[in-house]
Amino acid sequence: TCAFEPQAKVSDACASYGDLDTLNSRVHPYVRNLAKNTDFFSYYRLNLYNKNCPFFGDDEGLCGNIACAVTTLEKEEDIPDIWKAEELSRLEGPKAHHPPRKQQVELKRPLQGELGDAVGESCVVEYDDECDERDYCVPEDESASAKGDYVSLVNNPERFTGYSGEGAHKIWETIYRENCFSKPTEPQSVSSPGLSPFQSLSQNQALAAQDFRQVMKAHGREQAQLSGAPLESLDFEDECLEKRVFYRVISGMHASISTHLCYDYLNQSTGKWGPNLECYKERLHNYPERISNLYFNYAFVLRAVGKLRDYVQDYTFCTGDPEQDALTKRMITTLADVVPEGPKIFDESVMFTDNTLGGIELKEDFRNRFRNVSRIMDCVGCDKCRLWGKLQTNGFGTALKVLFEFGNGHEGDEKPLLRRTELVALINTLDKISSALKALEFFRESVAAEASGL
Ligand code: FAD
Repeated sequence: TCAFEPQAKVSDACASYGDLDTLNSRVHPYVRNLAKNTDFFSYYRLNLYNKNCPFFGDDEGLCGNIACAVTTLEKEEDIPDIWKAEELSRLEGPKAHHPPRKQQVELKRPLQGELGDAVGESCVVEYDDECDERDYCVPEDESASAKGDYVSLVNNPERFTGYSGEGAHKIWETIYRENCFSKPTEPQSVSSPGLSPFQSLSQNQALAAQDFRQVMKAHGREQAQLSGAPLESLDFEDECLEKRVFYRVISGMHASISTHLCYDYLNQSTGKWGPNLECYKERLHNYPERISNLYFNYAFVLRAVGKLRDYVQDYTFCTGDPEQDALTKRMITTLADVVPEGPKIFDESVMFTDNTLGGIELKEDFRNRFRNVSRIMDCVGCDKCRLWGKLQTNGFGTALKVLFEFGNGHEGDEKPLLRRTELVALINTLDKISSALKALEFFRESVAAEASGL
């Protein structure tokens, strides 16, 4: 398999889509099975309602919801209540119950603070909501005292919700804004009501190019091609690998969300769910870069899962059903075994190689910006979208952590230590991308069939 180098340009990715599709046809059944059929991976605890959105004022946060409701109500006047956007985006409520605190304490007590053979770390609910300095995400606190919600990911699939309009656009705009690295990372309010997202994004790109120029100057590596060139014509992506990776992760996640909502779309006139080819054409078919970024994310997350091969073998999956736990372990080990070993599909070693102060600052900046994206997700005005947005940001954050904060599995290298929520998020994020690739195959075939008049 040819490596999907992070520095490969969007248009000349080394691993072909075909290679990754072939790999995915092996990976997909395992990851689907894990996400769908194991308790460990199909329930997720997160703070869905109680965290404050730090980026918009109350009114603006609400504005997203109101704008969404107004738009969708207008469109949905003639359909039954149950199909209205509010209903579609509502979660179906807690399906699993967190073990009572007493039980958690009992699990820990005989071990006197140590984790023994019988009790894996996953049995111990994490109480600590504080960020580890190596986290790329704001962690989800699993403790009973935290105001979190347990949700069944199987009962709340990522699909069309009707969430759109200014509220959704503002979120995307704010997320892409995080790509402008030399801007302050503090939460900022967004006030550009007159701009279409397209204009905002191209402005962001221009800003990113400008920022990039400043950063490159600071690093003493200014490229001749940058001087004097109009911003629009700059291929700034060539210049800073890490920032480009940041953009690709976000854009690939956006593409995955678009794919899922187009694939599991509600036909509002028939009330039936199913793929919507027009939706795919509008959002993805004519945007090869978006699709390329989705494949990029696949290679990137899969590489992180492959790196966990040894780690998951020692992990104790305890859901209270030892048989199922043993099966879960076998399933995830098999999945990790399917991933080609070494940097064959994605080579992260070419990133963050600069150990000078500038390089260290760049990594810190990257991490902080990713944490900000994770906070922005609290502003999403649709419960189901917020759930999947938060989960996937956590999944990518975990992949980044596995790839850039731990060793390569050599003797003496530090082993990754992940929270249960991180592992669940990572596997479900892979499942989302893997399913999105399958959906894209379907859409490509449908477009070809349509073109040939079938
Ligand atoms: P949007 O998808 O809102 O995109 C805004 C602009 O971003 C586009 O005009 C384009 O210029 C640019 N853009 C689009 N795609 C990409 C890309 N891949 N890379 C780079 N730039 C891009 N809706 C649902 O129905 N179900 C969901 O589960 C769901 N989850 C969401 C989760 C989050 C975190 C957010 C912010 C929104 C979610 N939405 C969901 C809403 C959905 O993503 C769209 O915002 C909505 O459908 C409106 O789509 P749009 O065509 O106006 O463009």
